[in-house]
Amino acid sequence: MLQDSIPYFDAHAHAQFLPYDADRGQMLQRARAAGVKMITVGTQHSTSAAGVKLAEEYPDDVWAAVGFHPAHVAEDWHHDKNEQRAPEPEAFDPGKLRELARYPKVVAIGECGLDYFRIPDNGTGTKEKQKDLFRAQIELAREAGKPLMVHCRAAFGDLIEMLVRHPSSSIFSRARRMTRADCSIWDIHSPLAA
Ligand SMILES: [Zn+2]
Repeated sequence: MLQDSIPYFDAHAHAQFLPYDADRGQMLQRARAAGVKMITVGTQHSTSAAGVKLAEEYPDDVWAAVGFHPAHVAEDWHHDKNEQRAPEPEAFDPGKLRELARYPKVVAIGECGLDYFRIPDNGTGTKEKQKDLFRAQIELAREAGKPLMVHCRAAFGDLIEMLVRHPSSSIFSRARRMTRADCSIWDIHSPLAA
């Protein structure tokens, strides 16, 4: 039945993450059988490179987004064992990300954006670091001619302001806990709204 219908496309998966190590191949076979294709999204260089490798291994089923998640520049960085193999933070390296962005199976830059959810009110240093990181990836997306894969949580005002100031060609968004007020700002200013 599903094969006869329009395939599903998951625009934001993390199939390269560690919980799939035990049965990634079977999971992707089941996805193929059900007509599900996906973009697997990187959160730092290591997970982005793993996503590109997976996209190359599954040429008709998986595509990749490469980027650096805003939460990874937080001062209270913690090791997410579902995500990162190495137990220490990775430094953002735009050159290494640029190399990955050249792969034809890479269809977006991200996930990148702003996430103030766990930053205390006085965490202006972390917010500025996140903005610098996001700005660098907006530039990279423009340079590569690829859309942004945006992550935003509790930071919609600043995010919209940055996108208006530094427009990108197009975006995928993963907005968490967006309020009605955030939605109206998004509708007015989103590059997709025109
Ligand atoms: Zn994600």
